[in-house]
Amino acid sequence: MAIESVAFIGLGAMGWHMAAHLPKAFSDVRVWNRTFSKAEQHAQLFSTTAASLQQAVQADVIFSCLPTSQQVEDIIAQVPPKAGSIWVDCTSGEPQSAQKLAKNLKARQVAYLDAPVSGQTIGAEKGTLTVMVGGDAEALAIASVAIQPFAGMIEYVGQSGAGFAVKAVNNILMAVNLWSLAEGMCNLKAQAVDLNAALKCINASSGQSGISHNIFAQRVLSQEFPLTFALNLLAKDAKIATDLASDSNTVMPVLQLTQQLLRSASNSLPQASDFSSAVKLLEQWNHTQLDA
Ligand code: NDP
Repeated sequence: MAIESVAFIGLGAMGWHMAAHLPKAFSDVRVWNRTFSKAEQHAQLFSTTAASLQQAVQADVIFSCLPTSQQVEDIIAQVPPKAGSIWVDCTSGEPQSAQKLAKNLKARQVAYLDAPVSGQTIGAEKGTLTVMVGGDAEALAIASVAIQPFAGMIEYVGQSGAGFAVKAVNNILMAVNLWSLAEGMCNLKAQAVDLNAALKCINASSGQSGISHNIFAQRVLSQEFPLTFALNLLAKDAKIATDLASDSNTVMPVLQLTQQLLRSASNSLPQASDFSSAVKLLEQWNHTQLDA
């Protein structure tokens, strides 16, 4: 099947940039956003077309990137896509929802792929996101040409829900790195160690991580905590990972505790807090600030 039209639903921190890459590969790119002025602005800036939801779901490939699976389910219930189309859901969603949507949409001859992304807003802007895909492999073979414009890597990980599962586990691992590095830094601060120098050593040693390289100095030591990925969304991802473990009786004490810590941080901080702000809870407990 040749893809002639694509649509993107949800022009948030991620979707805005992801959709901006699509006109590189397609001339018919429809964008829809709940706050519709964003879609109109997107159309002006990137040569996309601001479309109604009804027009968007008539495209051959429809992307969604919304906060949770609930919003995706609501939209699909409201405006069912056309037969023969492929729905590529880039939300960090729930595996069970992916399985349900894939089954329900298959009955309408629509393929549903759970295709969450990793790489943060900077990766979305550069078009270098990692896309982890669950669902019908044949549908992915067709849709990958539409995913490619914003992807650095596309990996098929298994049946429906597998993409969401991998994403949830990835994000809770990221949270472990963030939280544990913050604990280590509180410990070093109490020893009057220069935190910038300590981070430089860690980044050239075995304790390094994506967080230690790309997040900690920029967001925590700077005390800037710029909002690009909301803490409540990370807490949601961690809950997805621990719910999966509960369903399968998988024992994972460190990840369970991390999920609880993120939930506490998310509940105690303002709604519009970056995920890196989770360490503020630890700063409070230690009566310290990780500034350097
Ligand atoms: P944002 O909060 O920035 O954007 C959310 C988008 O969803 C907006 O377009 C918003 O519309 C729309 N929306 C919210 N509620 C509804 C609703 N009820 N009906 C219709 N549209 C709705 O989120 P992000 O872009 O940060 O995240 C989107 C997804 O991507 C999440 O699942 C997140 O976990 C994941 N993700 C985020 C990353 C990041 O770095 N930010 C990285 C990787 C994955 P409106 O403009 O009207 O508010």
